[in-house]
Amino acid sequence: MSETVSITFLGGLGDIGRNCAAIESQNQILLLDCGQLFPDEMMPGAQSVLPDFGYLEERSEKIIGCIATHGHEDHIGALRFALNISEFPIYGSEFTLGMVRHRLAEADMLDKTDLIKIADGQKINIGDFQCEFLPVTHSTPKGLISAIHTPQGLILHSSDFKLDRDPVDGRHTDMDRITILSKDPGIRLLLCDSTNAELSGASISESEVGNGLEEIFRKFQKERIIATCFSSHIHRIQQIIDISKEQGRKVATLGFSMERNISLARSLGILSVAEDDLVDISEIETYPKNQICVISTGSQGEPRSSLNLSAQNSGKWLRIDENDVIIFSSRTIPGNEKRVGRLVNNLISLGAEVINDEHLNTHTSGHGQREELRELHQAAKPEWFVPVHGELRHLVAHRKLAMEIGTNSENVLLATDGDQVIMEDSGLTLNERKCEGRYIFSQGSIVETNHDLFKDRNILGKEGFVIAKVSISKKDKTLLGTPSVISKGWLSADVAELYEQKIEDRLSSELKSFLTNKRELTQDVLAQKVRRVTGKMVNDYTKRRPMIIPMVEIFS
Ligand SMILES: [Zn+2]
Ligand SMILES: [Zn+2]
Repeated sequence: MSETVSITFLGGLGDIGRNCAAIESQNQILLLDCGQLFPDEMMPGAQSVLPDFGYLEERSEKIIGCIATHGHEDHIGALRFALNISEFPIYGSEFTLGMVRHRLAEADMLDKTDLIKIADGQKINIGDFQCEFLPVTHSTPKGLISAIHTPQGLILHSSDFKLDRDPVDGRHTDMDRITILSKDPGIRLLLCDSTNAELSGASISESEVGNGLEEIFRKFQKERIIATCFSSHIHRIQQIIDISKEQGRKVATLGFSMERNISLARSLGILSVAEDDLVDISEIETYPKNQICVISTGSQGEPRSSLNLSAQNSGKWLRIDENDVIIFSSRTIPGNEKRVGRLVNNLISLGAEVINDEHLNTHTSGHGQREELRELHQAAKPEWFVPVHGELRHLVAHRKLAMEIGTNSENVLLATDGDQVIMEDSGLTLNERKCEGRYIFSQGSIVETNHDLFKDRNILGKEGFVIAKVSISKKDKTLLGTPSVISKGWLSADVAELYEQKIEDRLSSELKSFLTNKRELTQDVLAQKVRRVTGKMVNDYTKRRPMIIPMVEIFS
């Protein structure tokens, strides 16, 4: 009988984000990605949502390393937090490790890990696990499919997966090797990206986006072009640079991460651009408009991005007018629609022309659609399948697809965050809720799990607060001085004063009789009374529900 192996999903199955799985043998845990999720408006103030690390904290001595499949934040963005639980090496392609290095350096965590470079096709042993890494196409370069040999057979993890027929760098997804592995030794379990499992057909090639962009560049020969895309999308950036060069435009970069990623990609020979074809952003105004292309971050309408500031006429380097064309070469991430809309309106108000993918092919997804997923399933011929990387709807659509292709329904396990798949000789089973799969969130230097904080913040953000402060003499059962009521965010300051005064008066009169009639004057009893009186007044006067904060001082 072979040793049992388990896979515990700590994030990424139920949301697109915070991808992290723990592949575990008796004595060792190998992490597969360790990413963050960007919080939504229900978690005001939180900076990132992390995988459920509670499971790892209880087993920290077992962690032997982490495979970083590619450099997107939903795969590497939580490493800096995980390295506080245990120090372990991180494996990835050179480009991915460059992205990881940036993030860890910012957090001053580089000394807690070794970054171990993996080449396409390389086989290495990580602890008990023999691993082989295959190239995969995606919206950032040098992603890796992981083939992990375990005592319970081969696990194939697709990483973020696309079957680009015409990749910009000529580096294809290695389907041939997957076919070979499917025959010998055979793939026991496939874990595959579900992001686009609802979409029929196949995604268009990244190269086709280049054609779409070229068409737009041709149309606007007199204007300056500002193309905004994700700074990790090096192949998109390469195409924009190539088209600019053809048109005699010099390229300037706008945004810190754009500059940093371009410099990383150039240093690794992944991005090709001559020094001569670049110009510093501070010099763009000295060139005729039709000789410049600016490649910018800020495609998601990020409030502090340089593009957003420029759209409000307060950018440092870029002044936008009717001779500018802004191309959005990216998808708007759900949740960002409003601020992207605001950005577009601001750009238009300055007279600029705005082009997004509703007009032309200015973007393609980095995630394969149903035809591509079908092809992977057919090449891998897995005995078992677990859809990963998606919201529940995507995971369920992917399960249906696998069954359509002919995978037995009992061999498809629908796992969500916190679930564990157990691999044994007799087959695979789902151990539901092995850990809670809860959201851990970080803000500043503190990581927390209790989400009551956001209830408070949502009330404070929408309604403000009212503090009612009273001092009591316990011995004399009297009020000391007069109650004091202050508020913020409840009413506008000029209106608030009047109502604060009214509440103070009411507290004075109600507390006088309360104090003489009440036998037991404890902190709790008094705080409750002050809260009730204040809350009732607030409601009677304004029909609003700010947070009421009673403060009671008792002097004996
Ligand atoms: Zn990705
Ligand atoms: Zn991803």
